[in-house]
Amino acid sequence: MKICKDCFFDEELRSEINANAVIDDICDVCGKQSKVMDFSEFYGFFTTLLELYSPTVNSSKTIVDIIQDEWHFFKDKDVAMVLLADVIQANNLGYSIADFVDYTDDICIRVAVWDRLKTSVKEKSRFFTNMDEFAQYNYLTAGKSLHVGQKLYRSRITPVGQKKIKCDKMGCPPKELATAGRANPIGIPYLYLSDSAKTTYFEVRAVYLDKLSVGTFRIERELELVDFIYDVNLFLAYNDDTTSLKEIVIKKKIIDAISEDLSKPLRRYDSELEYVPTQLICEYCKRIVGADGISFESSLHKGGRNYVLFDDSSAKCIRVDSHEITKIDIDKK
Ligand SMILES: [Zn+2]
Repeated sequence: MKICKDCFFDEELRSEINANAVIDDICDVCGKQSKVMDFSEFYGFFTTLLELYSPTVNSSKTIVDIIQDEWHFFKDKDVAMVLLADVIQANNLGYSIADFVDYTDDICIRVAVWDRLKTSVKEKSRFFTNMDEFAQYNYLTAGKSLHVGQKLYRSRITPVGQKKIKCDKMGCPPKELATAGRANPIGIPYLYLSDSAKTTYFEVRAVYLDKLSVGTFRIERELELVDFIYDVNLFLAYNDDTTSLKEIVIKKKIIDAISEDLSKPLRRYDSELEYVPTQLICEYCKRIVGADGISFESSLHKGGRNYVLFDDSSAKCIRVDSHEITKIDIDKK
């Protein structure tokens, strides 16, 4: 089957086809005249990937749904259907394009380590929870760096009657006032910062006409962080060949699950027990991984990134600006 690069969404697959398609012909999938190559060149990758799934009654998704929803390789589900059916037909995979599938049992069990850890620290042992099963795979490593001089932001709602909050009051609250957060336990303050002033407007849940004090923080030393935004390209990883596709998929799903819990907004009626698992993970990053902090996606401002620094002296507030929330701030997320 001859395919063109426009049948794919994934940048790496597109550039692979761009580099290797030399024949000018009709694409068998979309029917366009284009540079095409034989899809069987990709069987190795897609077979290895499709082998990570098996049919199950506990799923309501087909292979097309999972592959396209989670990994976005193809232009759309129609293209995914044609090409994945071709892979399945050419390689005996034990399920059909119409079957409901999920990751194989051993992958699901490995990924559920986060659920097991959550139950363990919430319901069994708080301070001596056994993390051996989680720790043995080194899912979390300190990599992403913040450099001296880099700027991050933090906002607080300006109390009525004040012009703006002073620099020395923009950092962490004092220990005795530090309430529990997704990252920090009660009494142990961490410094929560964001990549842009705009992200902070959403993080403090400012509403129309709120007056904010927006602090600009300067990073004071080189910092290594555990990044909970694990952007991995499976096609590149497959060709790189250092780690199996299966291990990469497991790592991605575990980091995504933790990340989702980290970015869940705090709600007034939350039980503090809900924060304990992510607090455990942060302490693990600090004590075991040796990281200076973590970063994760903002769930309140799309594309925004949040940072938690374990030591508040790693960043210094260098200026505070006053900002009144306008419609524009809150309408354009
Ligand atoms: Zn095409």
